[in-house]
Amino acid sequence: MTELIIFLGPPGAGKGTQASRLAEDKNLAHISTGDMLREHVSNNTELGKTAKSLLDEGKLVPDSLVIEMLIDRLRSEKNKDGAILDGFPRTLAQANSLDKISENFPISKVIVFDANHEELIKRILHRGETSGRSDDTKDSIKVRLDVYQKDTEPLIEYYEKNNSTIKINAVGDVEDIYNLLSKEF
Ligand code: AMP
Repeated sequence: MTELIIFLGPPGAGKGTQASRLAEDKNLAHISTGDMLREHVSNNTELGKTAKSLLDEGKLVPDSLVIEMLIDRLRSEKNKDGAILDGFPRTLAQANSLDKISENFPISKVIVFDANHEELIKRILHRGETSGRSDDTKDSIKVRLDVYQKDTEPLIEYYEKNNSTIKINAVGDVEDIYNLLSKEF
């Protein structure tokens, strides 16, 4: 059995930074579907070819493709004490796919990162100066925030009903945010 910690929150909220640190401290797998998809794009795999333009535009990759990729990855993580899902689920269909495997992969906590849009846009544009990410651009950020609001934000309510959700204010110093976060574990 592998317990899952879900990191939910808009692009630019710092999920990836916090996840990689928490994963290291607590011997958890850090599973970022965004990182996995970017790797597919740079390796020019079939999935990468399908995903590339969607990533560039800030749109979501189809559920069926992401779900299969994620479940394969979860099954391959054997030596960890759990896994952080950074960027998954992003839609109700993806959340339902996790419910279906909950016997082997129960959700222990859902961390919700909270930040206002202005702050996020500022951060992503700043990150774009060095990230090399083709989607850290003004046009793409707008789409990514819209997609978040429409498809992903409703998951907060979904998880509040059945799971233990914890809201973290994601604006501020990385170190302070990590201290808040790690108190929960
Ligand atoms: P991220 O690194 O989490 O910001 O993700 C970057 C991009 O990868 C997103 O804008 C989507 O195009 C794609 N992506 C990542 N995770 C998912 C997911 N769970 N479902 C669909 N598309 C995803």
